Amino acid sequence: MTAVRMKIEVTGIVQGVGFRPFVYRTAVKNRLNGYVKNKGDAGVEIILEGKEHAIETFLKDLKTEAPPLAQIYDTTKRKLKGKDEYQGFTISKSSSEAERAGSIIPPDIAICDDCLRELGDPKDPRYNYFFITCTNCGPRYTIIERLPYDRENTTMRDFPLCGFCQKEYKAPLNRRFHAQTVACPKCGPKAYLATNQGKPVQHKDPIREAGKLLSEGNILAIKGYGGFHIAASTTDETPLARLRQAKHRSQKPFAVMARNLETIMTFAKVSKEEERLLKSFARPIILLDKSKSYCLSDLIAPGLHNIGVMLPYTGLHYMLFDAVDDAAFVMTSANPPNQPIVKDNEEALKTLGNAVDYFLFHDRQIAHRCDDSVLRMHGKRQVFIRRSRGYAPTPIILREKTRRCIVGLGGELNDTSCILLENKAFVSPHIGDVENIETESFLRNTIEHLTRLTNSKIEAVACDLHPKFTTTKLAHQLAEENNWQLVRVQHHHAHIAALMAEHNIKEMMGICCDGYGYGTDGEAWGGEILLCTEETEGFKRLAHLEKQPLAGGDLATRYPLRVAAGVLSKRMKIEDWLLENAQRFPYGKKETLILVDQLRKGFGVSETTSCGRVLDAIAAILGICYERTYEGEPAMKLESAAIDGKDVLSLEPTIENGILETTRMVYEVFANREKYSKTDLAYSAHAYLARGLATLAIENVVKNDVKAIGFSGGAACNGILASIMRKTVKDAGLQFVVHSAVPPGDGGVSFGQAVVGGFLRHEP
Ligand SMILES: [Zn+2]
Ligand SMILES: [Zn+2]
Repeated sequence: MTAVRMKIEVTGIVQGVGFRPFVYRTAVKNRLNGYVKNKGDAGVEIILEGKEHAIETFLKDLKTEAPPLAQIYDTTKRKLKGKDEYQGFTISKSSSEAERAGSIIPPDIAICDDCLRELGDPKDPRYNYFFITCTNCGPRYTIIERLPYDRENTTMRDFPLCGFCQKEYKAPLNRRFHAQTVACPKCGPKAYLATNQGKPVQHKDPIREAGKLLSEGNILAIKGYGGFHIAASTTDETPLARLRQAKHRSQKPFAVMARNLETIMTFAKVSKEEERLLKSFARPIILLDKSKSYCLSDLIAPGLHNIGVMLPYTGLHYMLFDAVDDAAFVMTSANPPNQPIVKDNEEALKTLGNAVDYFLFHDRQIAHRCDDSVLRMHGKRQVFIRRSRGYAPTPIILREKTRRCIVGLGGELNDTSCILLENKAFVSPHIGDVENIETESFLRNTIEHLTRLTNSKIEAVACDLHPKFTTTKLAHQLAEENNWQLVRVQHHHAHIAALMAEHNIKEMMGICCDGYGYGTDGEAWGGEILLCTEETEGFKRLAHLEKQPLAGGDLATRYPLRVAAGVLSKRMKIEDWLLENAQRFPYGKKETLILVDQLRKGFGVSETTSCGRVLDAIAAILGICYERTYEGEPAMKLESAAIDGKDVLSLEPTIENGILETTRMVYEVFANREKYSKTDLAYSAHAYLARGLATLAIENVVKNDVKAIGFSGGAACNGILASIMRKTVKDAGLQFVVHSAVPPGDGGVSFGQAVVGGFLRHEP
């Protein structure tokens, strides 16, 4: 066979993951000449000269033997004129041209086993070096400013390589060949301790000293890959109580970082699947059930049956545990109320100085913020609570291509943004609650960054129906500034559309449950049965939960006794019960009298079909939660209370005209609160809602000839609701689908919006 010349272009996650050395080795193995180079669009270009069958083998190897972090989306090959021009195979300098869109750099990756071994090897030049990395590990998304992924385009450019690192960087067969994060104690970033005033604390081993300070009861702000953590002891109550006060977080759970899997097992239960996720290179926080021998402070996750746990993911994290015996440290993202995670040293001094005793800084800039990811398991299924570090911005691959490139801005709380380009959905890391200028500008920056990294030419922007959301206003602004089309998507429609796209299902009976979403009628929705298709309107609202009164609007969301009072007032006189509980209201007896009057006259009372508010009401009636201090708190604590419960009420769902009644169920819980345990009553309420909603969906499936029932919305994070619903739907012989790629909560809304706007057959 004669020799030929072939040009091969690869798109996917192929930069920053050791792909070029792999191509080099594969070419040499197959006796091929030519070169490989990174392109400005994050793809890779390969020129090969040699026997045709050798090129075929090469292409096969490319698919089957690629490095673990690489993901190939597409390979194109084209024969070129000429042959025998190249001597041997080389890796050439990157080009900065941008031709094709849609490739991307990988997410941040936890320290690999090889680097971890070198970190602890006294003979290794990177012994004790806290930022030890190689092509198989280390930060990516948080250090890169522009493509191609080369050192000068990252925040590592401030650290020129020393001779030793340079040598490894240039050796094609070395594990650090072209590893843009390569560094050593001589040439790389340095860590240092400082007081809460920013005064340097001289110490030859600042990281292990930081670990000791934590163990002794100090609070530290520790700079990591994507921002600062606030760290503290997990057993000493004093710093934890101080931290709760300083962060104005009386109840919101803190995540912990454990020394290793064995120490986790001393306080939590870990299944095989959970172990796999904990150790995966994404190293997310996993919500693990506390075990019987739970020995950490109750101030870490008060009132909850589970605790967020992660394993160390940088050399620095491992070193914190070296000189102490602690099983785990609190490691919670450092963000002032309603603001994004803090990333710059100056900013940290200003905003965190009051809350901490010391800082553990390093001198590398963080190009882009990235919070830790959070997941939990429902049996063997993984559920994202937050999809961020370790996952974003890896795209979700869809079966079909979008009709136009579109960006979704999400809703208001726990927001993300999403660029949908061809068949790839690039969902951003966690942004937070977009309610002020800081989070809005973080959202804007993230969109610009993602647009640059993906070479997207955006044509449209999608947002919520809520006229007052910051994201809605921003969408209008962006549409005007850039001449983009604007698509407004109903909140629960976006949730179900996300689920349909994840599973490539064209028609779905969606059960969507959460706290609040703005309905097409301007009312507050949140417990809906939607028939979703890809047709013009996209969805029909076929059924929902009974409307319940919200006395005082937002006040009722904050103080769930108000919701309970509203529901119960339909069945009984509530005056005496409210008076008994007067001390639970900020203004005491006076407030309960006004509330009764309000409910009677309907003054200042709105209505909602929210599933979350019904769960809130039950939590208040059972004395589990009287004030919501963080998003979802009453419902989360109710689920925790219901674990191991029984359905003692066994109420048949009452359905009339497509409405699932909730008043009677709430009343029965109230009336039986002396007779049964909190656990059983909490479980019974879950069972009623789950069976009732599933029954409603099943009835409508039969009427409309649809195959699949899906469950989405924040309440789909609830393991009890999801498992009872699944059983009811399966028993009816139908398919039941849930999210596995994006969060069921509002972190998945931007993706759903982009999908609706991108796949609509007709313009709205
Ligand atoms: Zn490594
Ligand atoms: Zn070096």
